[in-house]
Amino acid sequence: MSGNRVISSLTDVRATNLAAVLRHVRVHAPCSRTDVASATGLNKATVTSLVGELLDRRLLRETGPAGNRIGRPASLLALEGRPFAAVGIEVAVDYLTAVAVDLSGSRLLSWRRSFPGLGTPAGRPESAVAALAGRVTAKLTGQGRRILGLTVAVPGAVAADDTVRFAPHLGWADLDLRPALAKALHDPAYDVVIENDANLAVVAEHRSGTHAGAPDLIALLGGAGVGAGIIAGGRLVRGDRGRAGRVGHLQLEPGGPLCRCGRHGCLDAYAGLPALIRAALPDAADDGPITDYAPELARLATMAGAGDPTALAALTTAGRRLGQAVSLLSDLLDPRAVVLGGTFTDLAPWLLPAVEAEAKLTVSIMDPAAVATGAAALALENLEAGALPS
Ligand SMILES: [Zn+2]
Repeated sequence: MSGNRVISSLTDVRATNLAAVLRHVRVHAPCSRTDVASATGLNKATVTSLVGELLDRRLLRETGPAGNRIGRPASLLALEGRPFAAVGIEVAVDYLTAVAVDLSGSRLLSWRRSFPGLGTPAGRPESAVAALAGRVTAKLTGQGRRILGLTVAVPGAVAADDTVRFAPHLGWADLDLRPALAKALHDPAYDVVIENDANLAVVAEHRSGTHAGAPDLIALLGGAGVGAGIIAGGRLVRGDRGRAGRVGHLQLEPGGPLCRCGRHGCLDAYAGLPALIRAALPDAADDGPITDYAPELARLATMAGAGDPTALAALTTAGRRLGQAVSLLSDLLDPRAVVLGGTFTDLAPWLLPAVEAEAKLTVSIMDPAAVATGAAALALENLEAGALPS
């Protein structure tokens, strides 16, 4: 098991070519060997040999002859999903989500478990994550599938060695999840990777969202804090220390409300879930500090739907401040699109008009499982970058 996310086998020409064939077939299936050759620039004999190997490895399958071609019918190719699975686990403040997909990206399972993020005693959060990982992988291997990789998404900064540097809303600092995962997964041969949640959200959008393939994209993820996942020039932007995209502490209004960082008027102080719940549901903390945000989020959506003026005003303010942040990011990075995910997905009907009024840019909404789906997709991305299963 290793945390390598940079593929070292790219120097291997054959692996690179095999990966190019896989990428083409994923996007264009069903397609013929001739289609692959003309799109990749590889000669026909090479493609025939590469496809033969991918069929032998059960990464591709033949779907039958093409109907309307002249001469000998060409059999068509598609990804072979069934023998493989990739797993993603999202760690949020109050829940864990696990998603598994097959090689073609079809969802095999989606599980959600409550998870007392901040309320978990020391040593327990990693065992809860590892236990879920163990159950998911046991289920998949029990179905005869081979695991290609497992990625854990966390709301925090992740160092190059995969330790969680800090995840303030979980109370984590310098936490290495991998020993517990290695034990639960019986020292797996596949990669286990820890990655920032917003980074995985933008990977999901880039791979299979509304704006799939766009080289410049931003995902803004709502939760206990706001994070941005950024793809610029086709590459994920991590920054020097894995901290790129920490937009929650962009200071939008120096005289604004107090943020947990000690400054005033940060984006989190308007659009982070604790601030939003405080503003929208003033009675929410009457029974003590909130540790489980899911019921409050549901109540906020219900009250906004019923036209409650306090809830609507708080959502409009949060939406305008989000729009301001979207504008700043757009000016810096000129993305094709900005997509909103996490808690913003649940609150989209009320946030979106205010965001768009401020941002003057099309903003769309992600699937609620985008982070876990992106986490699962990371192993598929690595495979298509040349890291084929041995
Ligand atoms: Zn702040």
